[in-house]
Amino acid sequence: MIENLIVQKFGGTSVGDPERIRNVAARIKSYHDRGHKVVVVVSAMGKTTNNLISLATEVADIRPKREMDMLLATGEQVSIALLAMALHSNGVDAISFTGSQVKILTDKNFSNARIEKIDTKVLENALNRGTVCIVAGFQGVDIEDNITTLGRGGSDTSAVALAAALGAKECEIYTDVDGVYTTDPNKVPEARLMQKISYDEMLELASLGAGVLHSRSVEFGKKYNVIIHVRSSFHYSEGTRVVPEEQVMEKLLVTGVTLKNDESRISLTDIPDRPGIAAAVFEVLAKIGANVDMIVQSTGQNKLNTISFSVLRKDIDECEIALNLLLKEWGTGLMSIEKEIAIVSAVGVGMKSHGGIAAKMFNAFANEGINIEMISTSEIKISCVIEKAAGEKALKLLHKVFELEKSVT
Ligand code: ADP
Ligand code: ASP
Ligand code: MG
Repeated sequence: MIENLIVQKFGGTSVGDPERIRNVAARIKSYHDRGHKVVVVVSAMGKTTNNLISLATEVADIRPKREMDMLLATGEQVSIALLAMALHSNGVDAISFTGSQVKILTDKNFSNARIEKIDTKVLENALNRGTVCIVAGFQGVDIEDNITTLGRGGSDTSAVALAAALGAKECEIYTDVDGVYTTDPNKVPEARLMQKISYDEMLELASLGAGVLHSRSVEFGKKYNVIIHVRSSFHYSEGTRVVPEEQVMEKLLVTGVTLKNDESRISLTDIPDRPGIAAAVFEVLAKIGANVDMIVQSTGQNKLNTISFSVLRKDIDECEIALNLLLKEWGTGLMSIEKEIAIVSAVGVGMKSHGGIAAKMFNAFANEGINIEMISTSEIKISCVIEKAAGEKALKLLHKVFELEKSVT
């Protein structure tokens, strides 16, 4: 247990240019000067990660995932070194570490690796000397010393996992908005800032498109009881705390709404209606590591059936090839693909004990002529697949229908 420990993560925009890096250094110094032991996790500067991806696309058609991770991890290495220098220039002793130097051990799933273990010894030694530790977010190392990355937005997960491993009670996520809002404030200006939100609701929002937190960071927070404090890096106001459900007084029917734009829909029609067919489809998809989200199967007719599901658009080509082989094997079935879909969702713990939310959502869409292609529900969320062009309109509509501009938590 390290006394007075704080873990702070700064996202891409927050370290987007030299001046911002100097501002971040000044903020860290103020905590250090007050006697805190500080661990800082940083992302790559601004759009660096996107630019590196474009560069790879320009250079090669074949981009092995291992090499992509090697490439993308360089972005964070730039920012940790620059931030350490900025701190030194402010008279603060600081040292930067890559994921592999800390030893953030992950599985071998390049581009979407999971953290398995974190060795805290190196960090603890430095912290006990009064040195600020700056750790590269988004990256780890597998058992064979390959560099891995945790998936886009994964620096949040690096930070919360480090906070958990070091026994910190709270992890601060500094970003370019004031906290977690009822929906993306850059898409819906009426969005309201929340003071608190439960882990489960945040987990649903993050998985369903609220990019403000990487969903695995919320899983870590919940599992290891680390409060996640999402706040602005541009001023000192408090933001939103992600906390256990008991600490959220008001159980709102709908806490937030989201829009996801990065998925496609695959429909397999006229496929055999017998045991083992769905298993075969999803086994094939699991093998290529495709992330399947919604699944809808209709009741079979004349021994034939239809299964539709959504997958991340980046996996669509691989899915198409693999499923075509399966259809060939069966000698029956057709595949249709809608490359661009939108998934709009409403999330709230109050749904557990109240009905009527689904009807309200479907009615709102009906009145605006928005066609629902697929529906999926859980205890605390309802999601609909609609055509991509209607995505933003549907998001604004739900925000209004559920009166989220008035909600206060
Ligand atoms: P960082 O680089 O700091 O990790 P991100 O771009 O990953 O920042 O996350 C912050 C962005 O998340 C905001 O600029 C905002 O557009 C988006 N966002 C999406 N949904 C929400 C939400 N419900 N609340 C706040 N921000 C959201
Ligand atoms: N730099 C990585 C990304 O852009 C990780 C992160 O920002 O969290 O996805
Ligand atoms: Mg992020």
